[in-house]
Amino acid sequence: MTFSVHGLTVSRGVAIGRAVLVASSRVDVAHYFIEPDAVEKEIERVRAGRDAVVDEIHRVQESITHMSPKEAPQELGALLDVHLMLLQDVELVAGVKHWITDRLYNAEWALTTQLEIVARHFDEMEDVYLRERKADLEQIVERILRAMKGVASPVVQPGTRGVRKQSQQDLLLDDTVDVPLVLVAHDLSPADMLQFKQSVFAGFITDVGGRTSHTAIVARSMDIPAVVGARSCSQLVRQDDWVIIDGDAGVVIVDPSPIILAEYGFKQRQGELERGRLQRLLHTPAITMDGEKVQLLANIEMPEDAHAALKAGALGVGLFRSEFLFMGRQGKLPDEEEQYLAYKRAVDGMEGLPVTIRTVDVGADKPLDNTVRDDAHLNPALGLRAIRWSLADPAMFLTQLRAILRAAAHGKVRLLVPMLAHAREIQQTLAHIDQAREMLDARGLLYGPVELGAMIEIPAAALNLKMFLKHFQFLSIGTNDLIQYTLAIDRADESVAHLYDPLHPAILRLVADTIAQCRAHGTDVCVCGEMAGDTGLTRLLLGLGLRSFSMHPAQILAVKQEILRSDASKLVSLAQRVMDADDPAAQLAAG
Ligand code: PEP
Ligand code: MG
Repeated sequence: MTFSVHGLTVSRGVAIGRAVLVASSRVDVAHYFIEPDAVEKEIERVRAGRDAVVDEIHRVQESITHMSPKEAPQELGALLDVHLMLLQDVELVAGVKHWITDRLYNAEWALTTQLEIVARHFDEMEDVYLRERKADLEQIVERILRAMKGVASPVVQPGTRGVRKQSQQDLLLDDTVDVPLVLVAHDLSPADMLQFKQSVFAGFITDVGGRTSHTAIVARSMDIPAVVGARSCSQLVRQDDWVIIDGDAGVVIVDPSPIILAEYGFKQRQGELERGRLQRLLHTPAITMDGEKVQLLANIEMPEDAHAALKAGALGVGLFRSEFLFMGRQGKLPDEEEQYLAYKRAVDGMEGLPVTIRTVDVGADKPLDNTVRDDAHLNPALGLRAIRWSLADPAMFLTQLRAILRAAAHGKVRLLVPMLAHAREIQQTLAHIDQAREMLDARGLLYGPVELGAMIEIPAAALNLKMFLKHFQFLSIGTNDLIQYTLAIDRADESVAHLYDPLHPAILRLVADTIAQCRAHGTDVCVCGEMAGDTGLTRLLLGLGLRSFSMHPAQILAVKQEILRSDASKLVSLAQRVMDADDPAAQLAAG
């Protein structure tokens, strides 16, 4: 039966495919297709993993026979029996075999896919005791996965089998062909998302998350349709269901009828044609009808994204979120050499164009590791995040600063500091940069000059801009956080997503004043929050005097199109009208 689930728009376009349900705790399991001749080997890997766990349990059983009831309570023996029984579970074993043989999933993917299915059956059981065995099942699958580590097959690059482009009707008629896959999860961390950047999925759906949560931002950078904040979608969708993601409307349609499929197939093709048309603007300079030059820059997460930035016609990188180099590493942070090489790759990749490297911004909804989420702090967005984290760990901060300064010897680098609010933080940051230079001098290492910039993303910074204009050569407005902190709503919390309003008069006032003061002072100013890539806001930002926008590469051409159609001089009065309006959104739409 067809039904739809509403969530929040993340990235444009339509994806149609079969659902792959992934439990959040297991998302760092590799997902790739194997070659048909590797099926036996893959099944053997699961078998070996399972045998290892069975042996382990037998060993524990053996050892507890020699223990007193106090040392090894009776329940432990019973629990081990349950685990052994679950390891032989016919549904689990047969299912895993099916996903490997018929779908060519790698062993880990097959195992976690089948776990989801069996776990649901447990959820539906009337008997409380049996229902609670789900946790045991999850445990033994985790143990098999752990046992399989070290015997993993090399990851086949995604797309080796590819996802053949064909009409949905064809796909429905012939179930044996490759079909696009859509990932459905309760939650994905930004680090999980980054891992999926290399994956086979044609779209993403998560139950939680706001439009500007970092998970959504990485999904957007992948330029595939995605919906977040879809509430209980991962409970409603079953493994292998057909789903449509309408990324423009933030809607997920499950088990669509042929008519709906045909309609969305049409919409999908229209979207592809539109993207093709936009490509014609690639080499056109971004200049308004009245001759105002606009700089379009790219936001990137990894050095390799520089390629996409260049391909989209970006005139530089306006924001390299360096924290993604630090995530998912089980606490082992990248050393100076590793960071230097990564920043250098980004600089080299941009072929002489400027690269703005932001110092690490972890914390809040960007934990370093999924395993070390620090729930003790109830308000992580207000806690030890970004520059606060860096200043709390000078050795780590100096390491990063040295790596950035060294990369600056290879091209134009701008160093951007996130979340500054206090004069003391600015002084300390500047002192650390001086110290990093001295350390490099002492070691006789080459480094280059950097322009120094600050993010304006805390209301206190926007309201005290004079202090920033004194110390920094450029400023970058982080509207994602500026909105979060001004309106007091967690950007990652879908339950308050309806209050996340870039057009709130207070936000417009802070953005307008920041741009105006920078212009008056002759300081470069850019917007690098998600507002910059929203084509619905391009005219407004131009009217506020903004001439530098930084966004995901995939959005650059659409924003450029808006710029080419705009007359900047006429937009000044539009911006004023929007700022004065009781209903700014309606005023903006009315023009
Ligand atoms: C912002 O806050 O607008 C920004 C660009 O930084 P991030 O989204 O990484 O917090
Ligand atoms: Mg920010």
